[in-house]
Amino acid sequence: MKAVYISDHGGTSVLTYGDRPEPEIEPGEVLLRVRGSALNRLDIGLREGRSYRGPLPRILGCDVAGEVVQISPDADTKLKVGDRVVLDNRIKCAGTCEYCVQGLDQYCTEQKRLGVDLEGGHAEYITAPAVNAHKFPDSMGFAEAAALPLAAHTAWHCLVTQGQIRPWDDVLIHAASSGVASMGIQIAKMMGARVITTAGVDWKIAKAKEMGADEVINYRETDSISQKIKELTDGKGVDLVFDVVGADVWEESMLSLKPGGRLVITGVTSGARVDMNLSILQGRPLQLMGSGGRSRRTFADVMKMVNQGELHGIVSQVFPLEGVAEAHQVMEDRNFFGKLVIEN
Ligand SMILES: [Zn+2]
Repeated sequence: MKAVYISDHGGTSVLTYGDRPEPEIEPGEVLLRVRGSALNRLDIGLREGRSYRGPLPRILGCDVAGEVVQISPDADTKLKVGDRVVLDNRIKCAGTCEYCVQGLDQYCTEQKRLGVDLEGGHAEYITAPAVNAHKFPDSMGFAEAAALPLAAHTAWHCLVTQGQIRPWDDVLIHAASSGVASMGIQIAKMMGARVITTAGVDWKIAKAKEMGADEVINYRETDSISQKIKELTDGKGVDLVFDVVGADVWEESMLSLKPGGRLVITGVTSGARVDMNLSILQGRPLQLMGSGGRSRRTFADVMKMVNQGELHGIVSQVFPLEGVAEAHQVMEDRNFFGKLVIEN
């Protein structure tokens, strides 16, 4: 089958469009004809060898939407051949590890990720446990569906599960145009919160407002995000910060939180090392949280909202399977809003 894979780490030239063996269905699995697969920031790190040093070649693509073409006879599932599904890319154990037996599968010690530790979705076919396949609405196209899984799962986990978002919260979501943040804006609005987000160019600011953000701060035109936050919250600060940026905004995030505020971080695209003024913690007891693994339950919660028409994938640009390298370049140039999707 045709696929895009890496046999070496490096620049976009290591992304090879070529033939790979078709996957064979294992017990409990479904075989999908892939119709859409989205890019994630993680793919850049995988390609460059920063976030993956496992066996090669490896087919990339963590976000997958496709049609069920075969179901293992022993699979305990209501899925039928022809169903249109997205995949939860985290494959957990059979419920036997010390965390899964406690219902804490987000910490499963055996978990493997499609498109990272296992073959991904930039291919004509992929296999996955039937339990990882979730149907999406008939009205939704494959490209939009492929834009959802990781971004929506991550944003939901961070805002709802970790951040305990409430309708009366003021929420700061950094970098509106990133896949995860743009889903975060949707989820925070859906939960009834007031959303303040950031962007650096006019068209991204307009897009963020179109998506429902109540306030958008142009971070290039302001000396201090936290100062601006104070102005927008009657001097109080926000209840919750959701961050995918990391080092560049860390100090401003701390200073933007009101006493007792919560921060959830799920990305460090600008860097991971910071100097931290611990007196901020002492003075305004804050809750600082990471994201980490995400549970099956939260994926099911997200898909319930998707199937109720409350959440939508945000597709910035669509590429053919041969165009994965070009899509990686667009991702590195950052001139997009939402998700870059491969359609095949
Ligand atoms: Zn487990």
